[in-house]
Amino acid sequence: MKKRKHTLEIIIAAVFLISSATALVIHLNRESRGVIGVYRDGVLLSTFTLDGIEPLDYEVVGENGEMNLVHIDSDGARMLLANCPDKLCVLHGKLAGNEPIICLPNRVVVKWLSAAELSAETASRTDATLP
Ligand SMILES: [Zn+2]
Repeated sequence: MKKRKHTLEIIIAAVFLISSATALVIHLNRESRGVIGVYRDGVLLSTFTLDGIEPLDYEVVGENGEMNLVHIDSDGARMLLANCPDKLCVLHGKLAGNEPIICLPNRVVVKWLSAAELSAETASRTDATLP
């Protein structure tokens, strides 16, 4: 009788652990893979929410003729074209994991936005649009 109760407790604990781990994974995925930000010179130029997005090409142009073309679709983003000398950003391929696509010569960064960055951005954007 005592042994059976113990087994039941273990099962309940295991189910609880698995379901909370699953919930955490879903939560983290949602936070880190939902929105992409494009930066130039450390300034956030634009954000893209991938949920239901139509594929698009976003052009980043610098004062000295720097050009980067970022392709964004529901799957993520990649640097389609760039006029930087090394083309490392183009060779990077798809934005995967937490590693951002960085174009060092053109000072362009494409990365997933964390929930914290997103709320900071939303707050600053709201401030900026106030009359
Ligand atoms: Zn580059």
